[in-house]
Amino acid sequence: MTKWVYSFGAGHNEGRADMRNLLGGKGANLAEMASIDLPVPPGFTITTEVCTAFYDNGRKYPDELAGQVRAALALVEQSVGLSFGDREKPLLVSVRSGARVSMPGMMDTVLNLGLNDETVLGLARASGDDRFAWDSYRRFIQMYGSVVLGVDHHRFEEIIERVKLDAGVIEDTALTPAHWQEVVTEYKEMVASEKGNPFPQDPEQQLWGAIGAVFGSWMNPRANTYRRLHDIPATWGTAVNVQAMVFGNMGADCATGVCFTRDPSTGEDIFYGEFLVNAQGEDVVAGIRTPQPLSRLRAKPGEVSMEEALPEVYEDLVRVRSTLERHYRDMQDIEFTVQQKKLYMLQTRSGKRTAAASLRIAVEMAQDGLIDRTEAIKRVNPASLDQLLHPTLDPKASRTLVSKGLPASPGAACGAVVFNADEAEMRAAKGEAVILVRVETSPEDIHGMHAAKGIVTTRGGMTSHAAVVARGMGRPCVAGCGGISVDYGAQTLSAGGRTIRAGDTLTIDGATGEVFAGSVAMIEPSLSGEFATLMEWADAARRMKVRTNAETPLDAETARNFGAEGIGLCRTEHMFFDPSRIGVVRQMIMAPDERGRRAALAKLLPFQRDDFRDLFRIMAGLPVTIRLLDPPLHEFLPHAEADLAEVAAALGEDLDAIRRRAADLAEANPMLGHRGCRLGISYPEIYEMQARAIFEGAIAATEEAGRAPVPEIMIPLVGMKKELEITRAQVDKVAAEVFKETGKTLEYSVGTMIELPRAALTADKIAEVADFFSFGTNDLTQTAFGLSRDDAGKFLPHYVEMGILPKDPFVSIDIEGVGALVQIAADKGRRTKNNLKLGICGEHGGDPASIAFCESVGLDYVSCSPYRVPVARLAAAQAALGAGGDKTA
Ligand code: PEP
Ligand code: MG
Repeated sequence: MTKWVYSFGAGHNEGRADMRNLLGGKGANLAEMASIDLPVPPGFTITTEVCTAFYDNGRKYPDELAGQVRAALALVEQSVGLSFGDREKPLLVSVRSGARVSMPGMMDTVLNLGLNDETVLGLARASGDDRFAWDSYRRFIQMYGSVVLGVDHHRFEEIIERVKLDAGVIEDTALTPAHWQEVVTEYKEMVASEKGNPFPQDPEQQLWGAIGAVFGSWMNPRANTYRRLHDIPATWGTAVNVQAMVFGNMGADCATGVCFTRDPSTGEDIFYGEFLVNAQGEDVVAGIRTPQPLSRLRAKPGEVSMEEALPEVYEDLVRVRSTLERHYRDMQDIEFTVQQKKLYMLQTRSGKRTAAASLRIAVEMAQDGLIDRTEAIKRVNPASLDQLLHPTLDPKASRTLVSKGLPASPGAACGAVVFNADEAEMRAAKGEAVILVRVETSPEDIHGMHAAKGIVTTRGGMTSHAAVVARGMGRPCVAGCGGISVDYGAQTLSAGGRTIRAGDTLTIDGATGEVFAGSVAMIEPSLSGEFATLMEWADAARRMKVRTNAETPLDAETARNFGAEGIGLCRTEHMFFDPSRIGVVRQMIMAPDERGRRAALAKLLPFQRDDFRDLFRIMAGLPVTIRLLDPPLHEFLPHAEADLAEVAAALGEDLDAIRRRAADLAEANPMLGHRGCRLGISYPEIYEMQARAIFEGAIAATEEAGRAPVPEIMIPLVGMKKELEITRAQVDKVAAEVFKETGKTLEYSVGTMIELPRAALTADKIAEVADFFSFGTNDLTQTAFGLSRDDAGKFLPHYVEMGILPKDPFVSIDIEGVGALVQIAADKGRRTKNNLKLGICGEHGGDPASIAFCESVGLDYVSCSPYRVPVARLAAAQAALGAGGDKTA
């Protein structure tokens, strides 16, 4: 018989931390905590397999489930000495979702389940607190009503507001038990009239309703969006956790809180968290009341820390903190409740953290011996390093402070104010930078948060939805900015007498919590000591070299500072777009004969020589791959009348003749047209000029830098061995000429891009005349799929959404198809020449999953854009160590 239900707590633990696929993260960790004797209220977990079976069988549960739930519930009853539905001693439970990986705010929670018109009286008698009992009941109706029955939560708030108005009170806390009783009556009436059925009184029915709602919410649009954004397959399913209630809202010796064992923003080794006295479950996360700090050191004037309010419990919590860190060997995100001075743990999980914190924690834990260096390297998600490389505000720049909130997620961002998520997404899709400003965010806002450059909320703490989600996404965020008031109707925000409208520019600093009017200058980031340490460890662990794709001295310099070990691709056509050169380039292309082309090329030679010399100087001693011209011709053709006239004048030709030539040169399919080596074969003088510029530039740089560069000359779009043979001969001939003229020589090599399927399939032949291969996986993806790289954006996202493709193949290599071509070419090439150097220079060279693939093929290096160099260094190390990061950052 399949086991669908696992018990935990009260000395009966059937699960473990490593069973998260079956029990979900929450369920697995509740069982683990209980098994190391931490105080966990007893309960049970319904497995993720039930969720999968439920959806596979037309939303029907497995037959044995009901019996197993009943048995597990009986164990809970026994252990706490209460009975589900009992009038005198009612057991109340919470029902929560818990997927394999945490999905903050995605799934729904119901607390106080088991209350009805009779058990509420029992709870009042047992607790001796009428107010508590009726407040708990109304919370239950409210949560169950909105989560399970789908009643709009505003309907509940309206009723409370009216009761408060009638009673003449402002705070909820001033309401009497009788008021709460009145609220309960009105809630029930409202739910009955909305739903056409009375509010369910039978606890069994309530329990199955809540379980069904959790499974149902696995497929709701918010959960689907979150999964899409985080690559979580729908087949994983969620578990359901049913647990005996403990109450943080029974009085001043009760509390609830959330904390991190280290600072999730900076990674500093301090206990970090928030709590609320006399509050229940979701109050802290919901951001309705402002939580207080845990430690006395963190309390600002007017705040009362937990250390002061509940000193003994605080001591217990500090002990739990260190037990959990030692046990899990990672920073934990903890939820706890205090009921009448007794501490209960409700959750622990690996805490979400910023990239900076992830790095610092990994390095410090390794330095403290809690984990080893290999583990530290694996812990940091390479893609998250991007966050560290983002700009911050220039301290010298002038600025106008609008308000200050909590520094919820670091980084600076600037953009136009928008007040709702849909608009944020719409405007961002048009290329606009936007800052999303909300009173608070909810899971419905995720798409807008993702689209925005930064997020501001006026309510909520460091663990509010906005803060947690923004940190996970790496978006700068200022949360709980109470000085700002937002008027959604008028589409304005105001603070300190200033009014800012939708569309006005705002700058935020997520590291300080400051919000500024207008745009504030930003500066490039400087990297922390931990960053250098981790990179050093990664460099020692990796096998593949990391180079950069760069054409300008600035890019080359930036990349070297980030640790690039050479240039893997210099696209020379990009150097031709400079306004000072484009006119001459057009003359060259439009010239009627070789003489005209040579005249234009002679003008380009000094520019190119200087460009190459600069790159060689910056990369002294390192390999520099220069790719000869590969323009899709249409990018250079003159279209505007003024450009046509300029070319005509320069060539001394008739304007009509030039217009005709432009029309002749236009191609139906330029990406498959007269580009790459085809151009170099038709017009050998172009590659001759470039080869000369490379050798002359390299000799000049050697004299300046004192160290010779290692030029690698790369021929693009080769499909046949003969093409490389012809172009290579041209290059060798020019080299011999330059060496003779200057009396100097240099080592150099000549190789080719492998970016056409035919090249991959005949790589053994091509390798006979190549010193190296560099995989141009952009074109290889385009040609392997027969998918235009410029037009695919129109339908590829739909393909990914439908699951036809797991990911955009231009972002992450299609291992099955394009990867197979890479593997074939690498094998065939090396069979011909076992020392053939192999690299990749398509965009995939900076994508961690593709880098792991490159390692498996045994490439010698990857090459990527400058800002991705650190990402690639870490990803290459993880690939060499045989595992990816745990994606907690
Ligand atoms: C490629 O095709 O992968 C490549 C690096 O060249 P480009 O993007 O310039 O076509
Ligand atoms: Mg290409």
